[in-house]
Amino acid sequence: MVVGASARAAIGGCRRLITSRLVPTQASLSVSFQCRQMSMDSRSISEKLRNSGLLRTQGLIAGKWVDAYDKKTIKVNNPATGDIVADVACMGGKETNDAIASAYEAFTSWSKVTAAERSKILRRWYELLIAHKEELGQLITLEQGKPLKEAIGEIAYGASFIEYFSEEAKRVYGDIIPATLSDRRLLVLKQPVGVVGAITPWNFPLAMITRKVGPALASGCTVVVKPSELTPLTALAAAELALQAGVPPGAVNVVMGNAPEIGDALLSSPQVRKITFTGSTAVGKKLMAGAAPTVKRVSLELGGNAPSIVFDDADLDVAVKGTLAAKFRNSGQTCVCANRVLVQDGIYDKFAEAFAEAVQKLEVGDGFKEGVTQGPLINEAAVQKVETFVQDAVSKGAKVLLGGKRHSLGMTFYEPTVIGDVKSDMLMSKEEIFGPVAPLIRFKTEEDAIRIANDTNAGLAAYIFTNNVQRTWRVSEALEYGLVGVNEGIISTEVAPFGGVKQSGLGREGSKYGMDEYLEIKYVCLGDMNRK
Ligand code: ADP
Repeated sequence: MVVGASARAAIGGCRRLITSRLVPTQASLSVSFQCRQMSMDSRSISEKLRNSGLLRTQGLIAGKWVDAYDKKTIKVNNPATGDIVADVACMGGKETNDAIASAYEAFTSWSKVTAAERSKILRRWYELLIAHKEELGQLITLEQGKPLKEAIGEIAYGASFIEYFSEEAKRVYGDIIPATLSDRRLLVLKQPVGVVGAITPWNFPLAMITRKVGPALASGCTVVVKPSELTPLTALAAAELALQAGVPPGAVNVVMGNAPEIGDALLSSPQVRKITFTGSTAVGKKLMAGAAPTVKRVSLELGGNAPSIVFDDADLDVAVKGTLAAKFRNSGQTCVCANRVLVQDGIYDKFAEAFAEAVQKLEVGDGFKEGVTQGPLINEAAVQKVETFVQDAVSKGAKVLLGGKRHSLGMTFYEPTVIGDVKSDMLMSKEEIFGPVAPLIRFKTEEDAIRIANDTNAGLAAYIFTNNVQRTWRVSEALEYGLVGVNEGIISTEVAPFGGVKQSGLGREGSKYGMDEYLEIKYVCLGDMNRK
């Protein structure tokens, strides 16, 4: 996922959005210029959250809620209104080093807690997340903008990773290998990797964390989480519930603020044995390089460029519904969102018409408003990126079939958009759009579709729509992607492996394979076993 350099510059070093709690600074003045006073709605929701103890604004280190050591804060905005939702601690290297030290200390005891006990604690955390799904969903809508129903759906999805890995905790089996010498016994133990640094993005403020922290805790690892500065509140609320569930102090720490400084502290510490990251390909590459000097394990879930391939033999309604879901979920801001809709010649016109008709019915607005299916984009940089991509396509001959501009609601709302006659030289074919724009690309043969689909450095999700079972197999096998949806646009689940090939990343999250990412394999050879 990529939002663009200017967004990163804004959050990278707590710049612009920083304000001291003690002294009004130039930065804080610029913040009040950018952000409006909170509207009644946002205020009453956040007051309710504050009263429930779920609106946390400090970092979590060694089981204690703490301010940034220099008292700096960073503002969290509601992207639908510009309201300031909260000021949260803007931390850096010092706090991260303390979080690492506490995770390192906690590892000694947490890794020795029985699997059954770890499982119970995780199960309690899952139940608390579900018990608070309404409030947590409201938090997501407040800080991230997605419609409330979708936000509550993310809580259920995010919590499912904690439930799943609470069960997997009990199934970390080793092996006994038939020995090559009669006086030996060969064993394989699986042991937790150690302290994990987990860096997560803003588009799924809960689920991207639980996919990492669930298997980490289940396997006996301890974690330092760095959520996105744009959406830290959900992470902090989830951490509060983890403490309530009995996760011991230090086993989960949360720091946020100066991303490069926090990243450097995690990378340079020999005590951190693994980095797990979801975010842009550019930052993922930096983290991978930064992990080299201390040879850390690395899991990366990076950008995609998902094709949704509609063949002539597809069921039109299924293809429209599936592509709509794959494209417009979270207003197009997921790394598995359909980024290119490849449509075969024979069905192209019918599909374009039916698809544009379906897209027109999407309702754009504040995620708290009943019936809204499309929230705002995360920030101005995201909208500008979408605008650039649309202008680029139109200037090279593509046709706007629907939308194609900012929404009349203002802020960071963008009209759900369908663009026809898109070609492979256009930016939107080559890079992740991360917004509500569906480019239609015409193709002739199955071979053409596979060639176009694979002509990218990314390889996360792909979707195909066909009623031909042989084609289903052929194309699924030929696609250079980590996930393939057939006649279905929403395929993520905690029980299946999620992850990409090529520059979309390394490793898998969710499923039994997701546990392996947090386990080391140790071979133990017992000798002199014939002695009586
Ligand atoms: P996006 O473009 O979606 O914001 P990023 O890759 O920039 O994606 O951000 C994903 C996560 O990575 C966020 O938590 C962000 O703060 C963090 N991040 C960004 N730059 C760095 C860095 N240099 N080191 C560590 N984390 C970083």
